[in-house]
Amino acid sequence: MSVLIGVLALQGDVREHIAAVERAGGQAVPVKTREELARVDGLIIPGGESTTVGKLLDRFGLMDPVRALPQEGKPIFGTCTGMILLAKEIEQSEQPRLGLLDVTVRRNAFGRQVDSFEEDLPIAGIEGAPVRAVFIRAPYITHVAPEVEVLAETHGHPVLVREGALLAAAFHPELTDDPRIHRLFLDMVEHAKAQRDA
Ligand code: GLN
Repeated sequence: MSVLIGVLALQGDVREHIAAVERAGGQAVPVKTREELARVDGLIIPGGESTTVGKLLDRFGLMDPVRALPQEGKPIFGTCTGMILLAKEIEQSEQPRLGLLDVTVRRNAFGRQVDSFEEDLPIAGIEGAPVRAVFIRAPYITHVAPEVEVLAETHGHPVLVREGALLAAAFHPELTDDPRIHRLFLDMVEHAKAQRDA
């Protein structure tokens, strides 16, 4: 089935995500307007700085249209900043957010000593070798609601989770050549589109 993935292009490594979707066998376009958003079957929110991207979502009139996507059967994948913006709760912050994913996140959670690092993570539901995960001033999850599936953890905290049409990673799968996490998201989008078309 052919689906079109949008990559939110307000800040962050948009090109890398588009290339990663293509490596996973899909098609992706940058999204900056409501019109562009209306054309896609699923959306990736890249890393960046979550307070900035939250403000830009408001300024570009995208907060409500993005928030409505899961109800329309259009999945969202948030990486790093994207995970923070998806979360219902952000520790010690009132910053603007989508607030869709029933988790609490802690920003810059790994602290100064391990500010950025890479690790091989075993991931539930992904076959073969562990996935190389690149963490850059990453958040982690400190609380998950029962309906949230934890797919990977490090340092005792969830760093890849799924809840219905939402997928969130604390790390940057677009920065390696491994297409498996983007493939997982493409499978969610294809499945959701099949349901919509049925
Ligand atoms: N620390 C950033 C934030 O709080 C996230 C970093 C990233 O996206 N790589 O938004």
